[in-house]
Amino acid sequence: MSIADNLSQIRQRLEQACQRVERSSSSVRLVAVSKTFPSDIVSEAAKAGQTLFGENRVQEAGAKIEALRGQGLQWHLIGSLQSNKARKAVELFDVIESIDSLELARRVNDLAGQVGKSMPLLVQVRLGDEATKHGVDPANLDSLLCRLFELPNLQVQGLMTIPPFVGPVKVRPYFRQLRELRDGWNDAHPEQLLKELSMGMSADFESAIEEGATLVRIGTALFGERQA
Ligand SMILES: *Cc1c(COP(=O)(O)O)cnc(C)c1O
Repeated sequence: MSIADNLSQIRQRLEQACQRVERSSSSVRLVAVSKTFPSDIVSEAAKAGQTLFGENRVQEAGAKIEALRGQGLQWHLIGSLQSNKARKAVELFDVIESIDSLELARRVNDLAGQVGKSMPLLVQVRLGDEATKHGVDPANLDSLLCRLFELPNLQVQGLMTIPPFVGPVKVRPYFRQLRELRDGWNDAHPEQLLKELSMGMSADFESAIEEGATLVRIGTALFGERQA
């Protein structure tokens, strides 16, 4: 199977999931997770019509973004961000999906101000006990969001989660929980609406879409198994 074939299959499944819950397929964007794959593979996906890519390491992404500059591609940072990589991340990425502390957000805000950019971001939320150690606890989400909206050089667009690895059926309540957290915030803060929900990967993106995902992050199903 070529990347173009994989892409069209994923697009079909994405559209079918949208139809099941009467959503417009234009309300869901596919983030092609190209981590560990070289820029010529990214280029192949781009030729097949994919324009949005996700990377989890700033340094690795930097080389690819430079190599593919001028092709109209968009890049999301989906991995955790270390403070010493923040400047590069602000320069390179269109969206940082992994903001999970006020300290990190303040740093990104300062750097965005220095480079004259208004930085789009998502807040990563930690759901369930087994989840990665990254992400803000749901109990602290509202207070973090309140502080983030005070920072002038940030565009807070929504929430992201990497749920515990419990399988494609049992994961669904976590997707629902992220949507409920966003909807709860939006009900209480109609002036500061969060639109995006980044959730769902290769194994479970259809149920994520059924639960409201606006960004699905898909690597393996598109590019094949990663070596590293
Ligand atoms: C690697 C990665 C993905 C993609 O996972 P697949 O199972 O290969 O689709 C999605 N989100 C994040 C944060 C990742 O690091």
